[in-house]
Amino acid sequence: MTATYVCPYCGGEIERGFSVQYLVRSCSDCGEHGRFVHRAVAAALEEVSTADMPDGWAEEPLDERLLIAVREGVLDVGDARARDGE
Ligand SMILES: [Zn+2]
Repeated sequence: MTATYVCPYCGGEIERGFSVQYLVRSCSDCGEHGRFVHRAVAAALEEVSTADMPDGWAEEPLDERLLIAVREGVLDVGDARARDGE
């Protein structure tokens, strides 16, 4: 079983044989070093209402949005797929 991770800067995707929220690496596409976010987590971030988040959140890179969302308590990544749109 593989998991897909998304580059926070260029959207490039990689696959790995394990599943974590994110992994830190240098992107072979754009050369940036950052946190590649699990695609399921990235999808959950897309569903977060910007009204619940600090100003400018939507303009942050994907990995920064993840950290902010977790800090703000709006994204419980462990069961992000089990929540039903509260
Ligand atoms: Zn990249």
